[in-house]
Amino acid sequence: MNASDLPGAPFLAYRDQQLFIEQLRLQDLAQQHGTPLFVYSKAAMLHALSAYQRAFAGRQAKVHYAMKANSSLGVLQVFAQAGCGFDIVSAGELARVLAAGGQAKDVIFSGVGKTRQEMQLALQAGIACFNVESEAELDVLSDVALSMGQVAPVSIRVNPNVDPKTHPYISTGLKGNKFGIAHERTLQAYRHAASLPGLKVTGIDCHIGSQITTTEPYMDALDKVLDLVEQIERAGIPVDHLDFGGGLGINYNGDTPPPADALWASLLARLDARGFGQRQLMIEPGRSLVGNAGVCLTQVQFLKPGEQKNFCIIDAAMNDLPRPAMYEAYHQIVPLTLSNAATQVYDVVGPVCESGDWIGRDRALNAQAGDTLAVLSAGAYCMSMASNYNTRGRPAEVLIDGDKAHVIRARETVADQIRGESLV
Ligand SMILES: *Cc1c(COP(=O)(O)O)cnc(C)c1O
Repeated sequence: MNASDLPGAPFLAYRDQQLFIEQLRLQDLAQQHGTPLFVYSKAAMLHALSAYQRAFAGRQAKVHYAMKANSSLGVLQVFAQAGCGFDIVSAGELARVLAAGGQAKDVIFSGVGKTRQEMQLALQAGIACFNVESEAELDVLSDVALSMGQVAPVSIRVNPNVDPKTHPYISTGLKGNKFGIAHERTLQAYRHAASLPGLKVTGIDCHIGSQITTTEPYMDALDKVLDLVEQIERAGIPVDHLDFGGGLGINYNGDTPPPADALWASLLARLDARGFGQRQLMIEPGRSLVGNAGVCLTQVQFLKPGEQKNFCIIDAAMNDLPRPAMYEAYHQIVPLTLSNAATQVYDVVGPVCESGDWIGRDRALNAQAGDTLAVLSAGAYCMSMASNYNTRGRPAEVLIDGDKAHVIRARETVADQIRGESLV
């Protein structure tokens, strides 16, 4: 394996055939904390963030970490301390931001189905903005704000109808998608918002999808959003901030998304050319800040040779790493110790009672029962999507900072899982 190709490099690297994350050997972490285990590099997160920060130097811009990618408190704390705001999609996520030391004034609230109670909680806390996704939501939010004697700051999420060329389940900016307000109805929606006494229009937003690996969809969406801003402002409604969502991809398997600073150099050039370069800008990256900062360590339980397939049965499963089952997603799976021994081709599967419980297919591995493997690019949409299916406790999480390992989540016990349940 070419070390520089490893997703997560240089924070994840082989030294003397042993896989390290920052200054710590992953085999030691597996022994100390057990498996399955999520391990995150703080330096990798801050490095990913710094590419956005470099691009925005000298601009009025704020990064709102889309925390659904990984909402563990220790991860949120890293981003709060680095000056990020947060993009939330539920009142539960707001509570996590506050528990991690973040501030409500740095929070924007996205999502198509906010409840009245969630709106109330967010208004009470004093969040920066509601990203509204339908005309019906405008009415309800105005109503809720008025009943509290408040005015809710709103941005409308527009659907620019561009194809991000990603998996259909993570494409959000096409017609026929549940997200945002159609391009053609946007002006009407802004007029309606401006007429409602409980709302103050502050911005516009879009988010066209996830794991986007080219610049073009962003440029197309940007042009369409700016056309709309011109229309809306001609109608006498000022649009103070422009929010371009998240969606930038990461390297799972030789993917080559543009670096965040290069993407934003192109977008800012277009914003400048169209006279919007000095507006207040916001973005909502999730995956690109944490995805390659994390790995999941898992132990080989059994090797099961077969006529058609060989199976490598590991102790992590679809409940811990749901992306392969959900999106047929690819995660590299690598040994913690490199060797020249012969490999065999395996389907790497978990113990859950579903044929969909696979983590990797047709992988060449030199593996023995008892070995530990690392599933790479596991920092985003893994732990935050993990479940207790099969009454499996969710893994522990460790945040690495140089040569220090901080346990940021204890392994979930059966007692944790059945708390709140009762017999009749
Ligand atoms: C999920 C989401 C994001 C983050 O997407 P990534 O692909 O993880 O960057 C940003 N904004 C909204 C509204 C989202 O739903």
